[in-house]
Amino acid sequence: MKKHNFSAGPSILWPQVLEEAAKAVLNFADSGLSILEISHRSTHFIEIMEEARALALELLGLQNKGYSAVFLHGGASLGFVMVPYNLMRKNGRAAYLETGTWASGAIKEAKNFGETIIAASSQESNFNYVPKNYDIPADVDYFHCTSNNTIYGTQMKSFPDIEIPLVCDMSSDIFSRELDFSKFDLIYAGAQKNIGPAGTTLVILKNDILGKTGRTIPGILDYRQHVERESMYNTPSVFAIYTSLLTLRKLKAMGGIAAIE
Ligand SMILES: *Cc1c(COP(=O)(O)O)cnc(C)c1O
Repeated sequence: MKKHNFSAGPSILWPQVLEEAAKAVLNFADSGLSILEISHRSTHFIEIMEEARALALELLGLQNKGYSAVFLHGGASLGFVMVPYNLMRKNGRAAYLETGTWASGAIKEAKNFGETIIAASSQESNFNYVPKNYDIPADVDYFHCTSNNTIYGTQMKSFPDIEIPLVCDMSSDIFSRELDFSKFDLIYAGAQKNIGPAGTTLVILKNDILGKTGRTIPGILDYRQHVERESMYNTPSVFAIYTSLLTLRKLKAMGGIAAIE
């Protein structure tokens, strides 16, 4: 009998998703090859990637709104590094909301790139609440928050209205509740909580926030390169992305985020 899995991640996948993913490991779409063996440049896989990227935007209500979706390596933890690398200007600064272990991890990495302002923190009470009524300086390069604090079980119910880019780590609640996702300029989420297996990270970003830092960014860490190369900068995690697509298809068939919420 299948056991219950209450872990935040890697977490439970729909049985039909597991079955289809298992089939694809043996013989993908009657191609005579495993999904683990086909080229990521094959028509088969390019179609998977295109559908997964489009469906992620569609489910969030962000298609045709100047956003791109890419599936990267490195988990949300690499997002902690890529966000300041791509968005914090040379000698710039950014503001962070410190609401838990993962937020603290993001702050720690941002400090390597420039001044990192803690707009508010609940650390003194072991992160048992999400601060409200804090000020965000108008001249920072972006504001970073964590929508759901996986370890502490606290969740942001509202997000600030600001003119600067709003960046959010949504690893453990993306696709689980309706939000106005167009409020956000960059969303990232490790797949293993709410989307699929570990090994890929969904990044949704507004194209016009990139290229403003004056930094030289290594190609593999440059969001622009990933967008330009349609999420094929290097060999993607084909299995994790295919299985994530199966979850997204199932979510759409169920009626999307409104239905699952
Ligand atoms: C699990 C988790 C992370 C870390 O994700 P990795 O993909 O393992 O790097 C970061 N942020 C949040 C909110 C998480 O729940």
